[in-house]
Amino acid sequence: MSMVAVAAPARAKALLEHQDLARILALLDRDGEEARVVGGAVRNSLLGRPVTEIDIATTATPEIVMARAQAAKLKSVPTGLAHGTIMLLVESKPFEVTSLREDIETDGRHAKVKFSRDFAVDARRRDFTINALSLSRDGMLYDYVGGLADIEARRLRFIGDPVARIREDYLRILRFFRFAAAYGEGPLDGPAVLACLREREGLARLSRERVRSEILKLLAAPRAGEVTREFSETGLLGTLLSSAPNPARLINLLRFSADEPRDSLLALAALCVNLPEDAERLREGLRLSNSESQRLAEAAAAFLSLHGIEAPPVAAALLRLIFRYGRQAAGDALALAAAERGGGAAWREALAFVRAAPELRLPFSGADLIARGVPDGKEIGEALKELRKRWIEAGFPQDREKLQALLDAVVAARLKH
Ligand code: ATP
Ligand code: MG
Repeated sequence: MSMVAVAAPARAKALLEHQDLARILALLDRDGEEARVVGGAVRNSLLGRPVTEIDIATTATPEIVMARAQAAKLKSVPTGLAHGTIMLLVESKPFEVTSLREDIETDGRHAKVKFSRDFAVDARRRDFTINALSLSRDGMLYDYVGGLADIEARRLRFIGDPVARIREDYLRILRFFRFAAAYGEGPLDGPAVLACLREREGLARLSRERVRSEILKLLAAPRAGEVTREFSETGLLGTLLSSAPNPARLINLLRFSADEPRDSLLALAALCVNLPEDAERLREGLRLSNSESQRLAEAAAAFLSLHGIEAPPVAAALLRLIFRYGRQAAGDALALAAAERGGGAAWREALAFVRAAPELRLPFSGADLIARGVPDGKEIGEALKELRKRWIEAGFPQDREKLQALLDAVVAARLKH
């Protein structure tokens, strides 16, 4: 067994220079109580990744945390009092303070906990070794389960027996793939994958909102492509998505769009959307919002119209795609088609063209025609249809003169009748 407490590496110690954090630790880490930074903040600082939220664990009970916050005139919000979590606000920056806990009973998702004064016990109830480190105010790093070595090796491992840990909380199956994609390198831990497979039936007990959130986070992670492929190969991902995943297309999409901020929803489309019906199924299965499923359905419809093409459409065809499906769907479909075809410079140019293009909406209305003497009624509908056809044929001109000429021609033809 390696030493539990070591002097924290400088990159982790730097966390403690954060003034607001120092203030909270000074408040909680005294007079018989201890408080440390735990979880993601310690992990990310060691990995050199941005720290977005700072969680603190303390021997103090929630009552003591609240009393000390009040005495120090800090605002506290009992965000998760049932499991011992209180949010403290310093200069309106939130810190989650959780009293040390020990699981008494687990049922596959929720744990019955009791408060504890033992940081080692609190560490061992966490999921993965890399998530179980704690950092004290005096710059010591506490490593009860070999997390530091795993961080250095970029290795994601369960704390203890993976099967037992998954039975306590089946969400950990999804967290395993998500954290491996976010922080791991190399092949997935064999015993962990095996345990996920053996315990797969527990996945059915997770709420669809949970599944949604984990899958979208997995797709946002740096190593989403690779890990999603392994996840697909287990057969588990297909069950969760109720469709056969296409990880190769996802990998191509991520390579194709590597220079852009990750778009998890488009990644989901690359993974498992071919037809508008797939978007509807995902809406149900992953509880997507209306706007999310609508985006996927429109992308799928536009993608379908590109079916079978080997090279990206020429500019005129791209404009028609935008006019028909909207610029967002046209761009999404083009990215999906590029991923399917393996990407390349020509696809990239086509996508840049679509993104730079304006939304195309017919710049005429019935009122324009009525103003020119076309009789109200079914004449207007027909004239608009004619205008639309000619505007498309003319390549969607935007300048006034051309638009006037188009209108003149159609009105003249109508009035002749
Ligand atoms: P992220 O950057 O994704 O928020 P995180 O490490 O902060 O990463 P959270 O889900 O916010 O992850 O959880 C905070 C910490 O709580 C984790 O680092 C882990 O130690 C513990 N934890 C969270 N969920 C579980 C779980 N289902 N089982 C065991 N421990 C968990
Ligand atoms: Mg977190």
